[in-house]
Amino acid sequence: MYVCILPGRCGKFTPGVCVLSLSHQQSCAYISICSQPNGRVAHYFKARGSNLVLGFNKLWGMFSSDMAIDLGTANTLIYVKGRGIVLSEPSVVAYHIKDGRKKVLAVGEDAKLMLGRTPVGIEAIRPMRDGVIADFDVAEEMIKHFIQKVHTRSTLRKPKIIVCVPHGATPVEKRAIRHSVLSAGASQAGLIAEPIAAAIGAGMPIIEPTGNMVVDIGGGTTEVAVLSLGDIVYARSVRIGGDRMDEAIINYLRRHQNLLVGVATAERIKTSIGTARMPRDGHGTTMMIRGRDLVNGIPKEATVNQAQVVEALSEPVEAICEAVMAALEVTPPDLASDIVDRGVMLTGGGALLGDLDLALRERTGLPVSIADECLNSVALGSGKALEYEKELRHAIDYDS
Ligand code: ADP
Ligand code: MG
Repeated sequence: MYVCILPGRCGKFTPGVCVLSLSHQQSCAYISICSQPNGRVAHYFKARGSNLVLGFNKLWGMFSSDMAIDLGTANTLIYVKGRGIVLSEPSVVAYHIKDGRKKVLAVGEDAKLMLGRTPVGIEAIRPMRDGVIADFDVAEEMIKHFIQKVHTRSTLRKPKIIVCVPHGATPVEKRAIRHSVLSAGASQAGLIAEPIAAAIGAGMPIIEPTGNMVVDIGGGTTEVAVLSLGDIVYARSVRIGGDRMDEAIINYLRRHQNLLVGVATAERIKTSIGTARMPRDGHGTTMMIRGRDLVNGIPKEATVNQAQVVEALSEPVEAICEAVMAALEVTPPDLASDIVDRGVMLTGGGALLGDLDLALRERTGLPVSIADECLNSVALGSGKALEYEKELRHAIDYDS
């Protein structure tokens, strides 16, 4: 017995041939078993189930490498259609300059290890700033490197790629991202607004005519958005995120302990003991850190406790709360009442800061939840937009 996989409905086939005919139209799949002597279809199933459609998407994914990229300030994630998230690496590139040209030495994880540790002649940088490309050449190299890393299958056609962009990205910034993706080998480059992707990825019912608020706290920015009927009603991007928290910790330790620490140490403090609310005992847990003593210039060890980190982070945390309050103030009343019911959803790595949800809840009086896979929400959401492009077509911009 043969199994044929054909696009669209099956017609007349040779007796004894089983035809698996899959159509992606209206999210349906048709399975037809053609076993009658006259070649007509004997059994015919039409399924409108998400499982079958997902199964179909998986199958189609075997032949295509269409992908969605979350090009974040801190991390880049790639979702390949039918396969899910296949890459998650820091958005960092290390290069050296030879004959006036930048020659890439390492990208991603390897390059992040070099941040702040490079000798003269080598630079390790983050080509994305505030969610958009800050260094075009280096960003293009990074995108190419990541795409090549995941695009291993030898397919005949070039992949279609969609990329998330912050809501506030300018036309010039959007063109730059599209250009980088096309020159990295995409057949078509689509853009999707980050808040929409984040909300889809967090499993919010954004297609319904109800208000949903999503707050995506990334490395460079925090995007606050109110969505309804699959689109953005209000969105605001503030240049406060994980990087500003790291800077705040560096500044605090310099001022209060005469200790100079690097960005990597500050980030480690934040992710290990960082919290947005004062611990009950007034100290919380402590952590050993190393840095340079600013008085005598030699390396030294010191301890830092959670209460100190709360104090250090008070400014960026307050700025995030204010951005949410500002969004609530301008939200139309009916949508605002939906948000009172449904609450606020936090996504992005910054959502993992200890007790940030509780601090926001105290400040706004609204229920606040953290997305299950908050570091992956944007990539999962843009991947879903790719899988269900027909239903979410309006969210992807292929033209501007
Ligand atoms: P982007 O989308 O801008 O690349 P991400 O959503 O990937 O950003 O989040 C990265 C940021 O989240 C970094 O600043 C990182 O330090 C921060 N982060 C990751 N884990 C935690 C944690 N446990 N607590 C606080 N911040 C965290
Ligand atoms: Mg992000």
